Amino acid sequence: MNFDQEADTPEQARFRQEVREWFDTAMSGRGDLRWSTQWSTRGNEVEYEFRRDLARKLGEKGWLFPTVAAEYGGGGLSVDHQFVLEGEIARHGLALSQVFYTLARIVVPVVNQWGNEEQKRRMLPPMCKGEVSCWQVMTEPQGGSDLATLTTVAKRVGDEYVINGQKVMVGSTHYPDYLWTIVNTNPGGERHENVSWIYVNARTPGVTIQPLPMVMGMKNIVFFDDVHVPVDDLVGGENNGWRVSTTHLELEHDGAGSVSGDPAVDRLIRYCSLNGDSLGRLIDQPEVRRILADAIVDGHVLKMLQTRNLWFRLQRDPVPYGGVQTRYLRRMIGLSNSQRFQEILGYSGLLKDLSVDEGTDFDYISRRGPATLHGGGTLDTDRLQFARRLGLGRRQRESAPVTI
Ligand SMILES: Cc1cc2nc3c(=O)[nH]c(=O)nc-3n(C[C@H](O)[C@H](O)[C@H](O)COP(=O)(O)OP(=O)(O)OC[C@H]3O[C@@H](n4cnc5c(N)ncnc54)[C@H](O)[C@@H]3O)c2cc1C
Repeated sequence: MNFDQEADTPEQARFRQEVREWFDTAMSGRGDLRWSTQWSTRGNEVEYEFRRDLARKLGEKGWLFPTVAAEYGGGGLSVDHQFVLEGEIARHGLALSQVFYTLARIVVPVVNQWGNEEQKRRMLPPMCKGEVSCWQVMTEPQGGSDLATLTTVAKRVGDEYVINGQKVMVGSTHYPDYLWTIVNTNPGGERHENVSWIYVNARTPGVTIQPLPMVMGMKNIVFFDDVHVPVDDLVGGENNGWRVSTTHLELEHDGAGSVSGDPAVDRLIRYCSLNGDSLGRLIDQPEVRRILADAIVDGHVLKMLQTRNLWFRLQRDPVPYGGVQTRYLRRMIGLSNSQRFQEILGYSGLLKDLSVDEGTDFDYISRRGPATLHGGGTLDTDRLQFARRLGLGRRQRESAPVTI
């Protein structure tokens, strides 16, 4: 493929013009809101409402999930259209996968892959149209990296499952509409052969959500106390959840790909051009320039890998180790950047700046670096997975799970 986004075909050029005008209108006059392509932890209600509305408008046009079939609420569009949409929304500092704070970007492709026809027609349109939000609810107090140890039990009683258990470190500031969760449907059964995924309305009696403030921002504990869920909401087959998990985890672990860059480094360069100390402007100091150059090179490499992953995913030909390779590098670069920012900025990098979005707030970047090494499984699990995909220590290489 041609990664040069200027090299449009005539159809892409026409579509780009349409999309650019649409976004310019939709976003006009809202420069006061602090866009962030990241998971935001600030809980700004005005920004949240605007973003949910934007997602609904994109959803109506089929642009929120462009390549998902129209009968499931998507746009029925091509990969080329998706690349145009991704590029145009990135111009406004947003990402298509993160228009508002929902993890539908993961749940939609998983349900699309593993749901039956009735489930796809019922569950997908509200997510694809931006009408509902959902959280991914996996981690439990006794361990997250080893997801298969989960103990939240869903017991079948007639036409329902009755769920009991507890999950931790999930979600974000705003209450969800749905919980996409993994449960044990056969306690005492074989490891990996006893789990299932289920789509739970978050307002079902017995669901309690308790905020859990963390260094990176707000997460939550979810309690399930005799939560009754129709059997029709179990996706991918009872006790077949480990196979469904491979799709889910590959998407979470950077197999999804993206085209968004990291605006924080751009902001740091601007800051260094405008600010200085007794040695003069920061940008003119050799040590600062060396650190900035490293951050810029890392950023370019990461963006190319993420774009590669998006392209190969949409072509249904994923690179076996592509997701985990990118994820490991992204997290190591995040850690390096939190150190680089502090080296350049000193104490002023530790002050919260509410005039910018979280993705470019120097304080948040400093806190985020170490914390991202843990979320979604730790670096150790990245290394383990990377080795398996390369065939190290095993006779056979693991292939990338199907993600779309
Ligand atoms: C910012 C953030 C956001 C999160 N968001 C979500 C969310 O939306 N949904 C959700 O369900 N969960 C979420 N989590 C939880 C996350 O998935 C878990 O924290 C993660 O899986 C690690 O699990 P744990 O915290 O139980 O640590 P553990 O798995 O108990 O790890 C503890 C230590 O043991 C090491 N270790 C574990 N297994 C191995 C191994 N096989 N080999 C070598 N060393 C190993 C680890 O590297 C680590 O040092 C989030 C966490 C964070 C920090």
